[in-house]
This record gives sequence, structure tokens and C-alpha cells, in this order.
Amino acid sequence: MSELSSPSKVFNLFKEFNFHTNKKLGQNFLIDSNIISKIISAADLRSEDLVVEIGPGLGVLTQSIADEVSRVLSIEIDRKLQPILEVNLKEYSNTKVIFQDALKTDFDRLVYAEAGGKSRSYKVIANLPYYITTPLLMHILESKFNVELIVIMVQREVAERMTAPPGKKDYGALSVAVQYYTEPEIICRVPKTVFIPAPEVDSTVIRLIKRKLPPVQLKSEKLFFNLVRTAFNQRRKTVLNAMQGSNWGLMKEEWKIILEKAGIDPMRRGETFSLQDFAMLSNCVYETLKELSTVYQEGEQIPLY
Ligand code: SAM
Repeated sequence: MSELSSPSKVFNLFKEFNFHTNKKLGQNFLIDSNIISKIISAADLRSEDLVVEIGPGLGVLTQSIADEVSRVLSIEIDRKLQPILEVNLKEYSNTKVIFQDALKTDFDRLVYAEAGGKSRSYKVIANLPYYITTPLLMHILESKFNVELIVIMVQREVAERMTAPPGKKDYGALSVAVQYYTEPEIICRVPKTVFIPAPEVDSTVIRLIKRKLPPVQLKSEKLFFNLVRTAFNQRRKTVLNAMQGSNWGLMKEEWKIILEKAGIDPMRRGETFSLQDFAMLSNCVYETLKELSTVYQEGEQIPLY
């Protein structure tokens, strides 16, 4: 196991390289070999795997991943970490660090170039600042990158939202999106004390296995997600009131017919809807708009989180 999981080694590195952690970049470095082992085992690494790591920091996870797989591409935004990473990854010839913003990275293109102009699937492992976790995940999932699975450290509450079933208070647009694209599973809880410096919140390691086929058949994915957003944006309203008050250009009577066709009680709240309920509803809306010869436009984009 990496000697970087020792606090004294980390403090020595800070001193030697005159490095100061940047709170804005969420630089809380992991120092617990047990948690590192759990992340590695959750990713079910094989020697032939290619792993894209996001936010290598000092390289503690990078070293452990590199011990298991043929190639690790790490994306780090902070160039000040370059001299430290050069030293810590000197012995790991199967690693490469790319200094850029992961949120602006086309992961497939990066892997394509690395694999000598061939498309291939890969795994993603990330321990990132929490404010970019959700945008990054949505970037990976919505872009439909060729990712097999993602193991990521997230704020505890975010892991609960991702895995929440319909009807629970944490269930929302993020739960639907994550559960539509992946099968999420909580791996372990992580206390603040295993980081230098300690963050303000507790964390959870979560694994998201990308689905090979969508769990529901949709006539329009965009329409589905716009409906989900509309429903959760007004989560205290019944679905009839939420839809009718939204920007869909359909009258209350039309919504009643749509809901009846979809077999959905108009008095239910969207927060109780399963993926199947949202799919039924969105497919019925799609058919109605088609009958009315209304070309479906994306409409107002309501933020997902
Ligand atoms: N993986 C290391 C560990 O477990 O100790 C470091 C984790 S630290 C929580 C987050 C890392 O992500 C930092 O090194 C930070 O500089 C990097 N980072 C922050 N924003 C980033 C972004 N947009 N793209 C790539 N890396 C980013």
C-alpha cells in the first residue's frame, strides 16, 4: 500500500514542495489505506483495464490503481501538483497525468487517442470537490461516454439522493437520472478524519454500474428528463397541477386525458413516480404532441439539481 497514506509523509511533501492546499479545488487528500482498498476493490480492476482517474491530487489512489491495471490516465486541474505527481508517479510507467479541467474533457476522445485510435470502454475513479461531483457525473452520463463503471467519493447526502427510491424525501431528479443511466450501490461511508485537511462534511464511496440497456423504453429521452424536472421543480404539487402550470402548451383537460392513458392518478405527486411511471407519462405526452402536430421543442430547461 502507498506510503502516501501516512499523514507524516503528506506533511513532509507539503513542506518539501512548499505546497498549500487549495480549498476552492476541494483539496482534501485521502490518508486511509483501508478506504483506498475499498475503492480499488469496488472498481473490480482487471489487468487489461484502462482507468480514467479524476483529481489525482498527490497520487495516492493513482499508485494503487496503477498496481492493478495496464493504464491509468489521470486528469488534474492544478498544475501546482505537477512536481509532486512527477516524483510520486516516477516508478509507475503505466500512468499519465493530463492537466486540464475534467468538466471540459471529452473522456472518449482522450481514451481514443491513448488507445492508438481505437474506441474502447474504460472505468472512472474519482475523488473530487463535492460541488463538481453532480455536474461531472451528468457530463459523463449525458455524453454517453463509453464508461463501464464509475467509483466516486461523494458527499454523504448526495449518495443518499442518488440511491433513494420513489417516495423517499431524498428522491429527486438526480435519483431518476442516476438510476436511469446506472445501477448505483453504496460501497462505504467515509468519516472526515481520513483526509488532510479534514473536510466539513462526511463522505460516501458509491459505485455506478452503467446500464447496457435503458431500464425503460422512451420515445424521447429529452422529453422524459424535462418532465422529470417539471415534476420535481414543484414537488409539493399534484402531477396534474405541476404539469398544467408548466410550459408545455397543453390544457388541463388534455393533461387529464394523458394521465388517464398513462394509468396515472392525477392526484399523485411526481415525487412518488417510479422510472416506469415517468416513462409511461412521457411516452403518452410524446404521442399527444405528435397527434396535435406540435413539434416537441426542448422548452424551458429547468436545472436538475
Ligand atoms: N485523489 C486524491 C486523493 O484521494 O487524495 C485527491 C482528492 S482531492 C478531494 C480532489 C482533487 O481534484 C484535487 O487534486 C483537485 O486539485 C482536483 N480537482 C479539482 N477540480 C478539478 C477539475 N475540475 N478537474 C480535475 N481535477 C480537479
